[in-house]
Amino acid sequence: MSTPPPAGSTVPPSPSAPSPLPLVFNAPKRGKPPTHWADLTPAQRREAVEAAGHRAYRARQLSAHYFEGLRDDPADWTDLPGPVRQSLAEKFLPPLLNPVRQLMCDDDTTVKSLWRLHDGALVESVLMRYPDRVTMCVSSQAGCGMACPFCATGQGGLQRNMSTAEIVEQVLDGARRLDRGQVAGGPGRVSNVVFMGMGEPLANYNAVIGAVRQLVTPAPDGLGMSARGITVSTVGLVPRMQQLAGEGIPVTLALSLHAPDDELRDELVPINTRWNVDEVVDAAWEYARITKRRVSIEYILIRDMNDQAFRADLLAKKLKRRGNWGWVHVNLIPLNPTPGSIWTASRRRDEAEFVRRLEAKGVPVTVRDTRGREIDGACGQLAATDA
Ligand code: SAH
Repeated sequence: MSTPPPAGSTVPPSPSAPSPLPLVFNAPKRGKPPTHWADLTPAQRREAVEAAGHRAYRARQLSAHYFEGLRDDPADWTDLPGPVRQSLAEKFLPPLLNPVRQLMCDDDTTVKSLWRLHDGALVESVLMRYPDRVTMCVSSQAGCGMACPFCATGQGGLQRNMSTAEIVEQVLDGARRLDRGQVAGGPGRVSNVVFMGMGEPLANYNAVIGAVRQLVTPAPDGLGMSARGITVSTVGLVPRMQQLAGEGIPVTLALSLHAPDDELRDELVPINTRWNVDEVVDAAWEYARITKRRVSIEYILIRDMNDQAFRADLLAKKLKRRGNWGWVHVNLIPLNPTPGSIWTASRRRDEAEFVRRLEAKGVPVTVRDTRGREIDGACGQLAATDA
């Protein structure tokens, strides 16, 4: 193994390059969305239903329609008297996601939605159907404060945190479409949820963990998904990674590493100046140790930026030093170029060499397929073109 040369590369200026530390941790309180059924715990639902003048058992009936039957239209709640239906719907199911655009590609097995929230903020979600699973990619914030220069969402800054129900509704929209046979391939169910849409999920921790709880709570009080099917992706907010490990909900963690050395990662993922490569990789190991879930190390391949052979070697070395191989795998992501950016995806041969070097050192590695490209499917691009 050769020693890596000094990491001398610098990030070329991009037209919309953010200042190095525009890190916003506490979202402004602007535009708090109305409270929704999917914001409440089962106990809160019973209380709220009674406070609205109904019998407590109506809560279970409403949950059975909303989560289990995926029926959000009160006309379908035939076991409830008409006036009760209307009252419950008005009070507990305020519309949170207003469709702006829906785009399909990959023979209509990829559906990308652009939503306008009640205060005008735009967010995106994507449904991806594969032969063996359906994945919903959801947003957790309108905008993002992490300012990664390769990411479309990062360029506009943070607008606000999304609420638990705004997050859950993205999943349920996909679930309802699948249930009604509106996605190519016939009726189906959402098996996976990835927090890889707009926003930094761990910077909106409470709403995100609240949404995860709604997703994993068994029917009829929740969607009844397996925690294993849920992936939370983070730039590496170390204290929040530790907190997540202690929740007792073994979701899969993905760490957006993108560089094995601090010099480059400081520029690609600016929060690295707060928690550096060694600290975030240690936190990933700790997460895997506590939850027994394999952590995914995300690494976008950007041409001549982070795709050099020496960086593959350095990445392998950093991971290997921590031992216990089963606990991580590297997921390489071809860069999806954002409008106006001078960066582009790696050459095929550089990508192949990067993979080869990791494999040679025994690092489990996969290259992500690039669904939805022709509909600006990845990374905040739809909202960016509509803003
Ligand atoms: N803030 C979280 C989750 C949202 S981004 C995070 O950073 O992990 C989800 C993934 O998409 C991250 O790995 C992110 O680095 C990656 N991503 C962002 N912009 C991209 C682009 N232009 N091309 C490819 N992947 C991108």
